[in-house]
Formats: sequence, C-alpha cells, structure tokens
Amino acid sequence: MIIIKNQTLYQCEDCKKRFMSKASVKRHQKKYCTANIEPDPDPIVVDGGPGVDYL
Ligand SMILES: [Zn+2]
Repeated sequence: MIIIKNQTLYQCEDCKKRFMSKASVKRHQKKYCTANIEPDPDPIVVDGGPGVDYL
C-alpha cells in the first residue's frame, strides 16, 4: 500500500466533498452535487402572534 502524503485534494465548496482532480470536482458540481439541486422556495410564514398594542 502506498500512502501519499500531501496529496492535493479538491473540495466542492458546496457540499465539502473531496476529489482527487479538478475535473472531478467540476463534473460533480455540474451534475452530481446535491447542494446544487434547487430547493423549493419556502413561503415566508408570518405568524400573527398576539395582538400588537399601538400606542
Ligand atoms: Zn458538491
């Protein structure tokens, strides 16, 4: 077994996954990164809460 120290790793800045090559990261970010999947926009829920006292 060969252990390579100080191996340069490339990390996806979105999901922090690590890759051995730059190309792998780019492919990952374009196609496979889960962080790139558009989330459903959350509606902003405004809680009415208790009545507001207007002075
Ligand atoms: Zn990613």
